[in-house]
Amino acid sequence: MPELPPSYQALTDVISAVSQRVHRTPWAHDTEYEVWHLFQGPSAGWGWVSEDDLNAQLDALWRPFRAAECWIYRDSERGGLWSVGLPRWRAMYEEWAVRRRQELAVEMAQLTETLRAAASSAQHAAEEAALAFPAPTAVWKSPATALHRARAQRALLDELLAEPHHIDDERSQFTCRAAAVPGEDVGGSPESVCGCGRDERVFRRLTLLAQVTGHLALEGSVKP
Ligand SMILES: [Zn+2]
Repeated sequence: MPELPPSYQALTDVISAVSQRVHRTPWAHDTEYEVWHLFQGPSAGWGWVSEDDLNAQLDALWRPFRAAECWIYRDSERGGLWSVGLPRWRAMYEEWAVRRRQELAVEMAQLTETLRAAASSAQHAAEEAALAFPAPTAVWKSPATALHRARAQRALLDELLAEPHHIDDERSQFTCRAAAVPGEDVGGSPESVCGCGRDERVFRRLTLLAQVTGHLALEGSVKP
């Protein structure tokens, strides 16, 4: 980090230590914003680090922060770490926070949409309400964690929903009705769309996922 004067190095080191502790990398993406956000008030933890552990890390920030009276950020255009005066930094942070809230809102809306589509495709529309995710503001207290979690949940959903229906090698009557092309002669009664168990499996996993994330009560009705 050669761009920084030595007096700012202590501050940089402590911010970097938080990133190292949480993400096991010296300066994770958006570290300067996340750490500032956590530094401003009580936190509910970040990533996989406990609240106590994190607070000890954040306490260590005070001394170098008072000495430097600035903040450190990564400049994507110039490259590397730079110091920035506090008035300008606060404006940068506000801009980032607005952008991050919008990003999170879009992500949560997509997640809710995917869950709704999944619920109705599994023909359990009654469960839709239980699968609805909380408003984005409810998860804002730890933005990076919420965003990463939402993306991971969506990726997991995409994988679950990508599971195909059974198609027999010979495209015989063993091919699932749900995978049949129009006019194809397959087995199963016209009422049962999926006869291969795929829809049942997908819905069961979806229900389990919703229970894991707390969006469906554990004692809630679990239909096959
Ligand atoms: Zn099927």
